[in-house]
Amino acid sequence: MRNWLVGIRCFPITICALLITPTLAMAQNTPLAITGTLLTPQEIIPNGTVVLQNGKILAAGAHVELPQGTTTVRTDGIIAPGLIDLHNHLTWNVFPRWKPIQEFGNRYDWQQKPVYNVLMDVPHSELVSEGLECEMERYAEVKAISEGETSVVGGMYAPCDQGLARNLDYDPEFGGGLGEIIYSVFPLTMSQFDVARAISVLNAKPRGSLLIHVGEGSPQDASAAREFPEVEERGLLKSGVSFIHGVALTPQNFAAMAKSGVGFIWSPRSNIELYGNTANVAAAQAANVVMALAPDWSPTGSDGLLGELNYASVWNQTQPTPPFTERELVMMATSNAAALVALQDFIGTLAANHVADLIVIRDTGKAHSKDAYWSLTHATPEDVELVMIGGVATYGNPELMRQISNNSPTETLKVCGSDKSISFASEKPEKHAFAETESMLDQALREMGRKLAPLAECGD
Ligand SMILES: [Zn+2]
Repeated sequence: MRNWLVGIRCFPITICALLITPTLAMAQNTPLAITGTLLTPQEIIPNGTVVLQNGKILAAGAHVELPQGTTTVRTDGIIAPGLIDLHNHLTWNVFPRWKPIQEFGNRYDWQQKPVYNVLMDVPHSELVSEGLECEMERYAEVKAISEGETSVVGGMYAPCDQGLARNLDYDPEFGGGLGEIIYSVFPLTMSQFDVARAISVLNAKPRGSLLIHVGEGSPQDASAAREFPEVEERGLLKSGVSFIHGVALTPQNFAAMAKSGVGFIWSPRSNIELYGNTANVAAAQAANVVMALAPDWSPTGSDGLLGELNYASVWNQTQPTPPFTERELVMMATSNAAALVALQDFIGTLAANHVADLIVIRDTGKAHSKDAYWSLTHATPEDVELVMIGGVATYGNPELMRQISNNSPTETLKVCGSDKSISFASEKPEKHAFAETESMLDQALREMGRKLAPLAECGD
């Protein structure tokens, strides 16, 4: 039995928490149909339906058979696969935006600066030493979910297992028998033992994955450029590996990656804010490298994948020849990301037998005569109407959440002035109200002259 307080608690930051008597929010065991405009990697299906049950998608399309006893929830929104974030450093997302007054040559450069120590590194260590890392993780996962993300990497590992977002690098919740996903920030400092272990994971059947930061710096930076041959020398130019950042990678490097089956994870906003430029993704595209998009972290990247999609779309349109369509950008946040970590049969598309990780967003494109891909690449956190993870209605507009989850317990968040409901019923172990997480983090940060970042930037 859960001991929920009954009542409303308000904290000064962003949240009023409504805590209700419990009815455990679980994946639907009776069939549920959600109607709207379906967004698949291949096509847009107007007036489509997704049917789900027991955490899985039973069918998705224009004409689907509804099993007996199906409850139907109609939306005017766009139903897309949940967004998959393959590059984040979640616990750092408690910090407000960091706006350095200079551009850096490479990642080693800013990590040595006193300003980074004072504003980021020391406060982060202090929060961890105060035992707040699981609160930081919780806050970051809520932030990710409010940006349409259902899967993340870069968390604090098993001790903080929250059961909120799907943590692909340690607990993807798909059952056993899948390849391991290793997320390593610095491949050049991996021990021989760790490299050998990574290679055995990559050679295993089913294949595992290794996500590594390579060539992070400006395109002209010699240290960043040197990382490609060094990683190659370590035997890591292999199928199942994905390079993150790669701002200093050359067209020849991308061609070699494509030949070896190495993927690429692009984080344009953080690149441009720190180094003044981003990767040569036109060359990566021309070489047929499979590419994903991810936000890096919110201090210099985006709050989450919706923000990064917006940024990437604007960047794309400002290029003399835009390398991507809006559909390709959506694929980079969904099906391509799933393929890079060999999870394309589980997540990243709306298809039968995939887990029911999906989002519903407001269709803002119609008013601009734009299609549903455009609506997703231009959606803001206010536009997120529903986030389902494993068939559990985890987050969304209060009315839609009520319809789907039968009044199971939720808390209310204020996101850019809009009320959103969030359910923590899947979280393990059970925790206090999210408002307390916010309050604890904000108080600890204020003692160090900092404050808690907002969940969303709200157009700032
Ligand atoms: Zn990173």
